[in-house]
Amino acid sequence: MLLTLDDNDLSQNLDLDSTVMSGRPLKKRMLAQLARAVQILEQQHHVRPCLAVVQVGDHPASSVYVRNKILACKKTGVVSMLHELPGDTTDAELHALLERLNADPAVHGILVQLPLPEHMDPQAAIQLISPSKDVDGYHPVNLGDLMAGRGALEPCTPRGVMTMLRAYKVDLVGMHAVVVGRSMTVGRPMAQMLMRANATVTVCHRFTKDLQEHVKRADLLVVATGVHNLIKGEWIKPGATVIDVGITRLEDGSLSGDVDYDVARERARYITPVPGGVGQMTVATLLENTVRSACQTLGVEIDLRRA
Ligand code: NAD
Repeated sequence: MLLTLDDNDLSQNLDLDSTVMSGRPLKKRMLAQLARAVQILEQQHHVRPCLAVVQVGDHPASSVYVRNKILACKKTGVVSMLHELPGDTTDAELHALLERLNADPAVHGILVQLPLPEHMDPQAAIQLISPSKDVDGYHPVNLGDLMAGRGALEPCTPRGVMTMLRAYKVDLVGMHAVVVGRSMTVGRPMAQMLMRANATVTVCHRFTKDLQEHVKRADLLVVATGVHNLIKGEWIKPGATVIDVGITRLEDGSLSGDVDYDVARERARYITPVPGGVGQMTVATLLENTVRSACQTLGVEIDLRRA
């Protein structure tokens, strides 16, 4: 283990009796722990972890995400390097920048904010990032390592969900987990991580017949589709844990998830709100991956349970 978080500390300040599984207090604790790890790296190894963020064009949602990531860097002491490229940047120009960042020993994490403009190839960019600096965990090498059960850098959103489940002390062993959505960035790695935690996993997607029947049998439901209110509240098994990853911006400008929250909340043991749930964990886990990557480069292990 390159970096081990202190789970007892993460559970502090959480209201485990509430139905709402909030990401905000957890993100705060995680960032505080990561700030401690950054301090250790600086004091004992004279290195500050550094995250390079590359944004192409000015997609408004991306700008908000990038801002939040840079802010989280500031809170932990991680150095952030923002590269803003114009919307007409070519693949070759982006690749040249990624090669430079790969070769820069001061850079520990590289993130290309998605989506890229339509004329660009996101897979080519992801595959060019050195796997050891791929803090989004999207590189095929890192996804393969996740399958093999030895991942160092894992996709932030599902990894953040796992951290959340541990902090809220949800016992996954033998649980029937249903994951709705099978993207490479959320659904698939989520299913892998839940299997690794000894849950029994069903994966549903847009071609699944009788989605409702699968959802009704879920002790743990993770939904990542981007389809607003796809999951009706009445489908939730009483006492289930519901993780809503989806984000939809409604006409009034507010954000909402894939689950009919108000009705589901009446039936669930735990449910994550949107906003204020999984999204918080995604950002915190990005920082965790950046510090982890710096530990890997330096050959250092940090155990925050003892630090
Ligand atoms: P994606 O479009 O790549 O994948 C969507 C998945 O949902 C697909 O596998 C598809 O088969 C499935 N799906 C679509 N319609 C369905 C239906 N009617 N029934 C069953 N399955 C259906 O999306 P993604 O990148 O995995 O993201 C999913 C959602 O999660 C989006 O709203 C995205 O904004 C959100 N997201 C949130 C975070 C976060 O930090 N909270 C991070 C990543 C993604």
